[in-house]
Amino acid sequence: MFEITFLGTSASAPSARRGLSAQVVKHGEYRFLIDCGEGTQRQILQAGIGFRRLNRILITHGHLDHILGLAGLLSTYLRWEAIDELEIFGGRSSLERIGDLLFGVVLRGATPPMPVHLREIVPGVFFEADDFSIQAFPVLHRGTDCFGYLFEEAGRRPFLPAVADSLGIPQGPARRDLVNGLPVTLPDGRTVQPDEVLGSYRPGTRLVHIGDVGQTDDLVPVCRDADALVVEATYMDNEADMARHFSHLTASQAARLASKAGVRQLILTHISRRYREKDVQAEAQAIFPNTVVARDFDVFTVRRDEPAPA
Ligand SMILES: [Zn+2]
Ligand SMILES: [Zn+2]
Repeated sequence: MFEITFLGTSASAPSARRGLSAQVVKHGEYRFLIDCGEGTQRQILQAGIGFRRLNRILITHGHLDHILGLAGLLSTYLRWEAIDELEIFGGRSSLERIGDLLFGVVLRGATPPMPVHLREIVPGVFFEADDFSIQAFPVLHRGTDCFGYLFEEAGRRPFLPAVADSLGIPQGPARRDLVNGLPVTLPDGRTVQPDEVLGSYRPGTRLVHIGDVGQTDDLVPVCRDADALVVEATYMDNEADMARHFSHLTASQAARLASKAGVRQLILTHISRRYREKDVQAEAQAIFPNTVVARDFDVFTVRRDEPAPA
C-alpha cells in the first residue's frame, strides 16, 4: 500500500487555499517528496510530516512552480535539520536548472554538511527496495525531460492458512519456509510443496503520478489497471485551445485517460485559480465518476483491492 499526501495543488502560482506542487508518497519507512514548489517547507510543517526522512526528492520537470522550494528546503537542511544525504532525481535539463539554483544561489561554493546528489534518470526502473519499485516514464509537456512516476508493489501469492491447517502443517518455521517458496517435510514424512498452500498470484498496488503533461495517448499502457492515477487538470474543456497551447490537460482529457486505462481512482491536481473546484470535478466525473480534485493536505491511501472471499 502507498499513501500520498498533497502539500500543494495549485497551477503556476499559489492561491489563498492552494500551495504550489508538492506531494509526499509513503511506503513503509520510505518517503518520497515529488516536486517542491515554493512554500513547500511550510506545508510540510503544517501536514505534520518530519523533515528528517524526507531526503529523496523526485522532480517531474524543471518549471519554476515545481522546483523553487528546493532552495529554501536545502537552506533549512544546512542550518538545522541533520540528514545524511539529499538525493534529487530528475531529467537532465531539470537537474541543470536545479543545480544552478542549489549550487549557484544557495551554496555559492560552500560545501554542504551532507552530500547533495543530483541523480539523472532515464525511462525505466530507477529505485528498488524489498517489495516495491519506482519507474520513470517520459511525458510530453513544454521542454524536455519531463517524467511521470509509477510506484509499484511486487506481486505475491498469499499464504492460505485454512489450507495449511487442513494439511496439518504446524505453525512456525514450516509455514515460513512455504511462504518463501521452499517445500517442507512434516514430522510424519509427508512433503508439502509451496504451490499447495499459496493462492493465485495477485499483482501489487500501482500508483501512477504524472505532473504537468499535454498529451495522454502514449500514457494508457503505463496507467493500465492502476489503483490510483494522480494527474494534472490545469484547464477545463471550454479552454481546450489554451490547454493545447501551454501543453496542459483539461479535466475531461484526464478523465478520458483514466477511463481508457481502467484505473480505479483518478485524483486531479495542479488546479488553476480561474475555475471552481466543483466545476473541474464535475467535468471529469461526467466521464470518469470516481474522480476527486485534491486539496492541500488531503491524504489518500492507495491499495490493491482484495478480491471478495469466495
Ligand atoms: Zn506546473
Ligand atoms: Zn510545467
